[in-house]
Amino acid sequence: MVWAGEDDGMKRFDANQPMGDLFQTILHIGPNWRVDRIEEDEYPLPGPNEPDPLLRWEGRLDVYLKAVDGPLPCGKCGTPSPRRDRRPERLWTDYPFGGYRLIVHAEVPRVDCDTHGVVSIEVPWAREHSTFTWRLEFRALALCRLLSVTDVAELMGVTDHRIHRMLGYHASRVRQSVSMAGVTRVGVDETAAKRGQNYITLFIDLDSHRVLFAVPGRGHETVLAFREEMVRQGGDPLAVVEFSQDMSEAFRKGVEMAFPNAEISFDKFHIVKAMNDAVDKVRREEQRDCEDLKKTRWLWLHNLRALATTQQERLGELLHSHLKTGRAYELRVQLQEFYDQPADLQEPYLRRWFWRASHSRLEAVADVAWMIKNHWAGVLNGALTGTTNAILEGTNSLLQQAR
Ligand SMILES: [Zn+2]
Repeated sequence: MVWAGEDDGMKRFDANQPMGDLFQTILHIGPNWRVDRIEEDEYPLPGPNEPDPLLRWEGRLDVYLKAVDGPLPCGKCGTPSPRRDRRPERLWTDYPFGGYRLIVHAEVPRVDCDTHGVVSIEVPWAREHSTFTWRLEFRALALCRLLSVTDVAELMGVTDHRIHRMLGYHASRVRQSVSMAGVTRVGVDETAAKRGQNYITLFIDLDSHRVLFAVPGRGHETVLAFREEMVRQGGDPLAVVEFSQDMSEAFRKGVEMAFPNAEISFDKFHIVKAMNDAVDKVRREEQRDCEDLKKTRWLWLHNLRALATTQQERLGELLHSHLKTGRAYELRVQLQEFYDQPADLQEPYLRRWFWRASHSRLEAVADVAWMIKNHWAGVLNGALTGTTNAILEGTNSLLQQAR
């Protein structure tokens, strides 16, 4: 138990403090900036005949920032320098705040540095040339792992195009300068972009979790491009002993062509995801005849223990009503438990699971079972090396590198 004290590192705001203090902290604007004013624009409720959109914004908050008085640090070297002038106002979209879109405004001053001449001061809340704040970019990149660019754009209240541009920026930036000497275990994954277009394939060092290479497109030619880049950056393709990927045939073909010494492994994340999709497929078919299943998609994606009590009860009831979805769910949980087995029991466990799943008379589940059967060695490899979610961590480090 931590008691509230002077130096517990927590910031407290009392009710009489101006809202600017809160945004000062939230936006990480640093000592050289302050919140000048905040404007709120409430959006009207949809009229009686208007469709209620899936994601309705309550309104928009415009936060105006101003540089503090006095000399300001040069954007290149940080030396305090006299202020020269300020540039026209710029806008940054920030991560939404409590149902409100959040827009940051600032006129960025230029200073006269003895060494660098006239330069703009640093904008700590965003990278150069971006129209997003770091807070938005960081979260949007992570979400692009799970959702389509279109979904992410909607959640952030911006256009697809702007999210694509940001992904493209991070992809090209990472490509410049990563040494690949000593890399032996590689993970590959594509970002979930809009179906059929604008994919970006990421290659990650599974030991350091660094992003090694990012390239637009998907499929085996991205693996060949990675091999070329690896040679250019001092790496040895023959030294790569493990390649972790999803079950796409294209990646497999590329790895077999370009990395002859690599064992392919399939990580837990992708396998459990395939199984979650199967559970959802079974549920969607079954809910046509079963009202109880409507609006339960979310429940089935979670383990019982991870749910709140009322949801646990609800899921428990559903599990007792002899539904096909319930059986699919139990097979999913059992598949997850495969990853907790001791190494010497993994294969017999998976063999028993395969038998049950392939005989489940649930088509979508049997499909996953056969997919696993057809990638048997790689699935066992993945469980043994325990590479999981490496790519998600990689996306985060992508941002850190770009910083
Ligand atoms: Zn300078």
